[in-house]
Amino acid sequence: MQTKLWLLNKEKNLDEQLKEAAELIKKGELVAFPTETVYGLGADGLNSDACRGIFAAKGRPADNPLILHIAKLEEIYPLSTNLSASAKRMMEVFWPGPLTMIVNKSELIPQVVTAGLETVAIRFPSNPVANRLIALSGCPIAAPSANKSGRPSPTTAGDVLADMEGVIAGVIDGGTCDIGVESTIVDTTVPVPTILRPGGITREMLEDALGAVEIDPGLIKKGQIPKAPGMKYRHYAPQAEMYLIEGPEASQQIKNFVELAVGKGLHIGVLADKKTISLLPADDRIISHNWGSTKAELAEKLYIYLRRFDREKVDLIVGEGTTEADLGLAIMNRMRKSAGHNILWAEKGKLVKQSGKTPDFFPENLLK
Ligand code: AMP
Ligand code: MG
Repeated sequence: MQTKLWLLNKEKNLDEQLKEAAELIKKGELVAFPTETVYGLGADGLNSDACRGIFAAKGRPADNPLILHIAKLEEIYPLSTNLSASAKRMMEVFWPGPLTMIVNKSELIPQVVTAGLETVAIRFPSNPVANRLIALSGCPIAAPSANKSGRPSPTTAGDVLADMEGVIAGVIDGGTCDIGVESTIVDTTVPVPTILRPGGITREMLEDALGAVEIDPGLIKKGQIPKAPGMKYRHYAPQAEMYLIEGPEASQQIKNFVELAVGKGLHIGVLADKKTISLLPADDRIISHNWGSTKAELAEKLYIYLRRFDREKVDLIVGEGTTEADLGLAIMNRMRKSAGHNILWAEKGKLVKQSGKTPDFFPENLLK
């Protein structure tokens, strides 16, 4: 299949430029499009065959339900039943925006969308391209991230093509996504609204609007299964093995780690704070990407850097942790998954294994 690419021109009428893509969605084809979080792989959310196509294109496990995207607030009503007070409040405060709500589903929703669950995930995105595409298609659009399952989510049209060229009908190029990590998912069907996936709308923002908010214990505790089926899978993974160093002395320990790796002749990718990068020796086997000065900047660039390390063909990657306040919760959730939970803790002059594995080249006596 030849994948079409529509490069949007801000000077031209948006609806005219989206017409062909919307027609393809109506016909049951798959079209990737930008949202404020990441690029989505869209299909008519009420067409079971089209939705099955999403699972096939991504290689997505069938038990991982899809999010339906709407273009107006009121479009949630025919898709849901018994909206809770917290759901109504969240719609008012956070929509349109990077918040997905889990609500009780209506009869309209195909089985394949919810993977058999009684609830459905719904989001009203703020990106104008996403909004007009949904409106012109005349249906809710089911859209997971437009990557092959397990890979980092795409935040540019080029990253979508890297995974989906020849597999889907088209890609709408609307530039780089602003937020860079996926939407926050909140279960609104339980007495206390519960975060199932941290994202662009932070826990602090939700607490300001709603009062008490919980975090799914499956996100934090080992051995507990997350409530969002997709959160149990390895995800956002770059090709090279990745390690995350967290803790108060992460900078110094990253320096040691990098020097050991380079000493073994490895090419290493480093994703860290500017201060940490300034400690590293000048060596062309070290490719470092600076976090940026705010958490928002790190979130926006995270997947871009992970995908860049793939193209740069590094042998391994080391990332520096950040605090879990605000956007840090979403960033750390994604980074830990990217690293396959290979996490080391740096404190009191020591590096201690927290979970996962340690690199072969690392002398065991340094891990105390
Ligand atoms: P993606 O579309 O790739 O951003 O992933 C969507 C996420 O939403 C996955 O982690 C799904 O498991 C989760 N999800 C979708 N529908 C539901 C639902 N009804 N209940 C819980 N989680 C859901
Ligand atoms: Mg995804």
